[in-house]
Amino acid sequence: MAVREIKLCLLGDAGVGKSSLVLRFVCDTFNACSESTIGASFMSKTIEVNEQSYKYQIWDTAGQEKYRGLAPMYYRGAAAAIVVFDITREESFHTLKDWVKELQQLGPPNLVMAIAGNKSDLDEMREVSSHDARTFADSVDALFAETSALTAKNVLELFVEIS
Ligand code: GDP
Ligand code: MG
Repeated sequence: MAVREIKLCLLGDAGVGKSSLVLRFVCDTFNACSESTIGASFMSKTIEVNEQSYKYQIWDTAGQEKYRGLAPMYYRGAAAAIVVFDITREESFHTLKDWVKELQQLGPPNLVMAIAGNKSDLDEMREVSSHDARTFADSVDALFAETSALTAKNVLELFVEIS
């Protein structure tokens, strides 16, 4: 059986939970005091879905402004990008829209885009409605999921959906 390789990168504001989503997907764990990523980090994981093996090659980027210029190095070679915002921080949703614009203008032409509204376990602190996020995702032809790296909700589903 041939293994399908999927190169993907994660983009989004610092603190939205990119590294936590990767850690949940790759190791099925959560770290409440995860350290902020410097530059970018790489992880790989193979899963089997419907008798097909998928090997994910995941570039997890740092969200800080000072590393922003590095992002093209990661998304240019990617087949898919997961752009993450934090449902409890509206500002991170604005940053997400900037990332989507940049991917549309400078990303590879067939890039599959997924938008993740992370920290769905903190619903009582929500600042971005599911409806607004989904409407935006539809308008840019991106997949959409609300995820929680803490509870694992929709995390595997998100990675499977982009494969
Ligand atoms: P990154 O900068 O985007 O990589 O974000 P991190 O993965 O480092 O996470 C930033 C902070 O948010 C950390 O304190 C995490 O423990 C926390 N965090 C990440 N995902 C979730 C989540 O789904 N729910 C909750 N409650 N906290 C989360
Ligand atoms: Mg990180």
